[in-house]
Amino acid sequence: MGELPLQGSGQEDPAVTLRPCVRVSGEAGPQLIHWRINLRDVESERARVVERWPMLGRQLREALVNDAEHELAAQVDALQVYEMCPCQDDFCQSFYTAPPPNGAFGAGHRNVALKPAWSGLLILDVVDEMIMFVEVLYRSPLD
Ligand SMILES: [Zn+2]
Repeated sequence: MGELPLQGSGQEDPAVTLRPCVRVSGEAGPQLIHWRINLRDVESERARVVERWPMLGRQLREALVNDAEHELAAQVDALQVYEMCPCQDDFCQSFYTAPPPNGAFGAGHRNVALKPAWSGLLILDVVDEMIMFVEVLYRSPLD
């Protein structure tokens, strides 16, 4: 009694499945647990980008260097995954690297549109020359 059906088991499409980035605590198991919710569970850990997703960290640094954004490139090593983008679009794996603003980013904000190593988008929100948000669109699961 009280058993939940195993939704989606055995029919994952690897092209669209977002695998959990972090371990899932408890008995819920891995099925259909949204990666964003998993991240919220461990928000306090605030992993560095280069530790959680070494490939993405490398790609981000290279894209910044290629764009002559050397000061921003120097920030990549210390960037933390503060919070995932809440939009729930399945092509979006964007994340905050600092506390989200209350509303718009405001004065001192600029967008830095980079040429990513994948066929999607990589756009940074920078405020006073600090990376606040990393917009990652149309990329395979973060690695
Ligand atoms: Zn989003």
